[in-house]
Amino acid sequence: MTSHKITILPGDGIGPEIMREVRRVMNWVEYAFDVSFNVTEGLIGGCSYEEHGEPLTDNTLSIARASDAILMGAVGGPQWDGKVEYAKRPEAGLLRLRKELDLFANLRPAMCFDALADASSLKHELVAGLDILFVRELAGGVYFGEPRGIEDLPGGGRVGINTQRYTDVEIIRISRVAFDMARKRSGRVHSAEKSNVMESGLLWREEVTKLHAAEYSDVALEHILADNCVMQLVKAPKQFDVILTDNLFGDLLSDAAAMLTGSLGMLPSASLGNGGPGLYEPVHGSAPDIAGQNLANPIAAVLSFAMALRYSLDMGDAADQVEAAIAKTLETGARTPDIWSEGTRRVGTHEMGDAIMTALKS
Ligand code: NAD
Repeated sequence: MTSHKITILPGDGIGPEIMREVRRVMNWVEYAFDVSFNVTEGLIGGCSYEEHGEPLTDNTLSIARASDAILMGAVGGPQWDGKVEYAKRPEAGLLRLRKELDLFANLRPAMCFDALADASSLKHELVAGLDILFVRELAGGVYFGEPRGIEDLPGGGRVGINTQRYTDVEIIRISRVAFDMARKRSGRVHSAEKSNVMESGLLWREEVTKLHAAEYSDVALEHILADNCVMQLVKAPKQFDVILTDNLFGDLLSDAAAMLTGSLGMLPSASLGNGGPGLYEPVHGSAPDIAGQNLANPIAAVLSFAMALRYSLDMGDAADQVEAAIAKTLETGARTPDIWSEGTRRVGTHEMGDAIMTALKS
C-alpha cells in the first residue's frame, strides 16, 4: 500500500474546525484509493507562539520539510495583533515556512461552481463554468526587493522605498510552472506584466517569450498588460485559462478574480517549490469573528487538500472525485452562512462536512 507523509498545521481561529472536516475527507480517500496517510499535526501561528514563544518552531519546520505535503488552516487573530513582537506575530510563522521551503510558485484557481454562479457580483453567464488558474511568483519582486525602507530626506520630509526586482532565473522557473500547468489544462497562458512602463516587466516579457519559443511552442502564449488584464477579468473572465504573473500583480489579480467566484470560503491555494513538499491552504484567514461557532465554510480547505492530491501526491483521480463531491454537495443546496441564499439549506461547518461525506460515498 502506498503511504504518504502529511503534516497538518491547523493554526488559529477557524483553522482547527475546517481541518477536522478535511481529516474526514482524507480518511475517505485512504479507504477508497487504498493509500495510507501518515499524519503528523503541529502548531503554527498564534497557538504556537502561546505554547513555544515562536510562531513556527524548528522542530515543526523539520517535520514539515520531511513530509510529502503540508496542509494548513490559517493563522492570526486580534489577540496577537500589535501585542507580540513583530518578528513573532502569527503571520511570521507562515512567511518563514514559505521562505524556508522556497515555495516560489503560488497556484490559485478561481473556479465558479455552477450552483454558486448567482452568488457572483457578475452576471451568471459571465461566470458559470469559470475555471482560471493563477500562477503567481511568490518569492521575489517588490515585496522582497532591496533597497527598501522609509528614510528621512536631507531637506526634511521622508521617502518610502520598495524595489521591483526579478532575475531571469526567477522568471524562467515560474514561467515553466505556468506552461507545465497549461499543458495539463487547455493549453493557454496569458502572461501579465507592465512591460510598457517597467524594465522588470520588459525582462519578464522577453524571458517568457524565449522560454516559450525554446520549449513550449505547443502552448498558446499571449502577453497582456496587467491593467488590461484586470479589465478583461471583469469583462470576459472565461477567455482566460492560465494567468502567469509576478508577486505584486498576482496578489491583486487573483484577489479580483476570487471575488468573481462567490465567497472567500470557497478558494483553495497551493504553494510549490523545487521538488520539496507543497503547502496547501485556503486563501482566507483565520476568521476570528466566526471562530468556534460551527459557521466556517470548510470547502476551501477541502479543495486545498484536493490540490495536494493532484500536485504533491500524484493522485489526480482522487482529486477529481473530491472536487466532484463538492459540486454535488452544492447542488443539494447545502450552504454555510457565507454562501447561503434564499431557497438553499443553511448548514454549519460539521454538517457541510457530513454533506461532503455523503456526496463522496454516493
Ligand atoms: P479573513 O479571511 O479571516 O476573514 C474575512 C471575512 O471572511 C470574515 O468576515 C470572515 O468571517 C469571512 N471568512 C473567512 N473565511 C471564511 C470561511 N471559511 N467561511 C466563512 N466565512 C469566512 O480575513 P481577516 O478578517 O482580514 O483576517 C483575520 C485574521 O486572519 C488576521 O489575523 C489576518 O492576519 C489573518 N490572515 C491569515 C491568512 C493566512 O493564514 N493565510 C490569510 C489572511 C488573513
